[in-house]
Amino acid sequence: MSRLALATVHLGALRANLQRIRVLAAGSKVMAVVKADGYGHGLERVARALAVADAYGVASIADGQRLRAAGHRQRIVVLSGIDAAGDLPEVRRLRLDVVVHHRAQIDLIAADADPRPLRVWLKIDTGMHRLGLPVAQVAAAVARLRALPNVDPALIWMSHFASSDAADPGPTETQLALFNALPSAPNYERTIANSAAIVAQSASRLDWVRAGGLLYGMAVVDGRTGSDFGFHPAMSLSSKLISIQRVSRGQAVGYGGTWCCPEDMDVGVVAIGYGDGYPRSVPSGTPVLIAGRPAPIIGRVSMDLLTVDLRQHAAAVIGAPVLLWGPALPVEKIAAAAGSISYELACGVTRRVMVAEDDQPVAADPEFAKPKFAKPVAAN
Ligand SMILES: *Cc1c(COP(=O)(O)O)cnc(C)c1O
Repeated sequence: MSRLALATVHLGALRANLQRIRVLAAGSKVMAVVKADGYGHGLERVARALAVADAYGVASIADGQRLRAAGHRQRIVVLSGIDAAGDLPEVRRLRLDVVVHHRAQIDLIAADADPRPLRVWLKIDTGMHRLGLPVAQVAAAVARLRALPNVDPALIWMSHFASSDAADPGPTETQLALFNALPSAPNYERTIANSAAIVAQSASRLDWVRAGGLLYGMAVVDGRTGSDFGFHPAMSLSSKLISIQRVSRGQAVGYGGTWCCPEDMDVGVVAIGYGDGYPRSVPSGTPVLIAGRPAPIIGRVSMDLLTVDLRQHAAAVIGAPVLLWGPALPVEKIAAAAGSISYELACGVTRRVMVAEDDQPVAADPEFAKPKFAKPVAAN
């Protein structure tokens, strides 16, 4: 069986989404976060579409290497920084910026004989309690870094929100207040906002915003989609119907027989499954679009295939296109059905899925260019 599962990446959506972030965060520079292979959309492809970003954010030096090999010259920030002394020559060769989030990383830089100045983003823990220097260690860390001749004196101050996607802005505001209260030198740039904060917390945008999900048209805010905030989904996951079977009333469909036909009916089989990254955990009733119209999944998703109820699709034929998610069927909705978030689904599309690029510009939506959408969370 040739694989019919196809992820189409909409380059026009990526470009429009970056432009939309520029409108929202007009005074800020934009770091395009392209870790995890561009949130599953393909690192080089995404970076090419977003080449006007002010910087790229990556999780590993290896990603920085790929971006330099592709010819990108702007700043590339390794978001977890260095782990070992051997990382530094590579960071220098590739001219990568590093995040410093722990004293051990300062020790590595201090022990490095290379005199060329490293660009450092100092990560401070304001309440996420994952990576970052405790506030109490910041002054000492800054003093040490400033005394090192091989560190660029223009440190960038960075922190990360734990709950910027939550309905309650309280924890985010607390983190922002703590970050703003740090006695930073006037020439230091500062950054704290991720995607959810870019739309919901205008005061957090500061010198740099660090956008991941929004660039791909995805939202993590509960019950909301990227489109609700004026962003365009950058991926369509599709496949085709490869079988239509008449199944009798009372017969069960698929592994475990979890769904039983209430009447004699047509069951369609779609060539995609969890081996492609479509989540196995979605329940019966989760929609796909067949030739643009919804049809519910029935029974369990299997590795290569899933089954759908064709009772409302009398005209469906083998070969009909099936959309699993995309602009007409928000990935956030499928993610919610799977008990997950859109990011995990996009990152989870597996290597056997064919990838195509769609270079069409997105349809211009004049509504979203207007400043009244600057706080879209308040809408509706
Ligand atoms: C992943 C990441 C981001 C982007 O987060 P989104 O919610 O996708 O915008 C920003 N900053 C850091 C440090 C990250 O690791």
